[in-house]
Amino acid sequence: MEESRDYAAIAAALQQIADEVSVCTACELHKGRTCAVPGEGPVDAEIMFIGEAPGFHEDQQGRPFVGPAGKLLEAWLAEIGLTRQDVWIANVVKCRPPGNRDPRPEEIAACAGYLERQIALLRPKLIATLGRYSMEKFFPGARITRVHGQARRDGDRVLIPLFHPAYVLRNETAMPDALRDMRKIPRLIARLEEVLAEEAAARGRTNDAPPDPPADEPEQLSLF
Ligand code: URA
Ligand code: SF4
Repeated sequence: MEESRDYAAIAAALQQIADEVSVCTACELHKGRTCAVPGEGPVDAEIMFIGEAPGFHEDQQGRPFVGPAGKLLEAWLAEIGLTRQDVWIANVVKCRPPGNRDPRPEEIAACAGYLERQIALLRPKLIATLGRYSMEKFFPGARITRVHGQARRDGDRVLIPLFHPAYVLRNETAMPDALRDMRKIPRLIARLEEVLAEEAAARGRTNDAPPDPPADEPEQLSLF
């Protein structure tokens, strides 16, 4: 049974993070920002998308994925019957790098705590990484062309590396793969829930009965 969660407290803590981000000076990127982009979404989101860094439009509006890449992300979400209002959308760094250059390791490190606190509060069932820097956090050393769409279980959640929509806009031949990867998401969440329920039931059996014979558990995770 899932314990109840205090969504008002979670929302307040997320707002607190957004407030801290808006005045953060922990790395150089604060100097060039118009608006910080802490991320946004419903407090009970099951899915979290993590991109790279705000671009021009995001910096102007203080919201993630509102430019062309965001339009494509919205189209991908529509493929699985979702809108951006259904998911949480964040970035690895919260302020726009000048000229949209890549974020530097020290900037990613300085900003990591905000994202980690957001993940801990939201406890998403699935995290989809968008692009290199977000993938590196969860799949260190992986190459996106090789591992895109290959989900991995991480405790109570599933991680899946996706192509960045801005990459697909520049490389349209990646679109079919990107769509195929995206369409896996509902099945992955359903499978995760099944596996977690099976594990909880198995724990229940071992708690009030003589221990079961050794479980053959790794098999059932094969989808991941
Ligand atoms: N690209 C990103 O990685 N994040 C945004 O918020 C927008 C574009
Ligand atoms: Fe702070 Fe992150 Fe912005 Fe750097 S990118 S100033 S660490 S909020």
